[in-house]
Amino acid sequence: MKRKIEDLIQLVSGMRMADRTRYCFLAVFLGCVHLLLTLVGFLLMCLPLAVTNLAVAALDFLSICGTKNSRSFFVRISILYFATCIQSLYASVLLGWNYGFSTYNLVMIPVMLSTVYLMEHGENASRYTICYTLVNCIATLVFCWILYRGNPVYYYPVPTDLKVAFFNNIMGFLMMLCFCVMFILELTVSRKAIRERNEELQRLANFDELTKLRNRRSLLDIWQNLGRNDYCIVMGDIDDFKKVNDTYGHEKGDDVLKLIADSLSGAVDAVDYVSRWGGEEFLMIVFGNIAYALKVVDRVQQKLRAADLQAGGRRLAVTMTFGICEAKEVSDGNIDEIIRHADQRLYLGKTSGKNCIKIRDE
Ligand code: GH3
Ligand code: MG
Ligand code: MG
Repeated sequence: MKRKIEDLIQLVSGMRMADRTRYCFLAVFLGCVHLLLTLVGFLLMCLPLAVTNLAVAALDFLSICGTKNSRSFFVRISILYFATCIQSLYASVLLGWNYGFSTYNLVMIPVMLSTVYLMEHGENASRYTICYTLVNCIATLVFCWILYRGNPVYYYPVPTDLKVAFFNNIMGFLMMLCFCVMFILELTVSRKAIRERNEELQRLANFDELTKLRNRRSLLDIWQNLGRNDYCIVMGDIDDFKKVNDTYGHEKGDDVLKLIADSLSGAVDAVDYVSRWGGEEFLMIVFGNIAYALKVVDRVQQKLRAADLQAGGRRLAVTMTFGICEAKEVSDGNIDEIIRHADQRLYLGKTSGKNCIKIRDE
């Protein structure tokens, strides 16, 4: 049983109601309340109360017609809001303030606000809802002032006010409960959707789509906040990559980039960082000394030697040149300076035959 309830909550909290469904729920809810108040009117033999409530109930139900093609429900919500509030004030004029019809004036404020807020582009209507609330508050307070002093139109020898007020309170609480639960559930769904969208945006902003590695911006962010200098920078560049593109096409070139990305990721420890620094250049932050950085590069080269990437009916040999710089070599740990050293060593490797590792500037 508990499991079923949990499943149901999960199901309900995973849904976002369509504007039309939300509006229809409000209209039917108000229609039912006004039908019950029609019954109250008949029981009290107060014909104007019964007839006007019946008319408002009919308005509530009829307002659902034509909602299928409707895009904005704000006008309809406004009509229901004012119809309910005016009807409540009229009921107070007929029977007196003690019958508690003003509950509906009060309850309609959060009900309307939450319904409008959850609607598509509901924020645009917020200034109207504030105006409506003000009009409602002023009208209710004025009527309260007048009706407390004056006599109601209908007077009953037996005390019925408490029973009707009790009924109106129950209806008021029920409305508040329903719309509060709806509001919270929908807000939870919206927040979850926003969180997921933010995570996706973060991922898109920080990771390269092709290789799934961090991009330069994201690595620089991490680098600037490292707060330690016991690491080495390994800058690697694919050898003669342009030839691969020219000979076998851009798609094969992309396959090579993915192979390199997998090889680099598989060669480092979990705490190290691997990034696609630019086109076919990669930069890694590996925590340890030069010996450890050389071990990482050795693992990469082993992986590349073992890889079996086919192109043009034969195995495509992929090699890389690396430039390594230990952070401690640069006295103040200046990032630009470390990059400059690594880049210079990479260039040296390229000019001295490629497929090699350089750890010094000369
Ligand atoms: P070197 O050994 O001196 O590094 O020569 P190279 O050919 O590897 O370097 P070069 O700078 O001449 O060419 C780099 C090529 O990388 C050119 C560019 O089209 C290619 N490239 C950059 N990004 C991508 C990409 O995302 N996909 C593919 N397929 N190619 C890319
Ligand atoms: Mg290259
Ligand atoms: Mg290059």
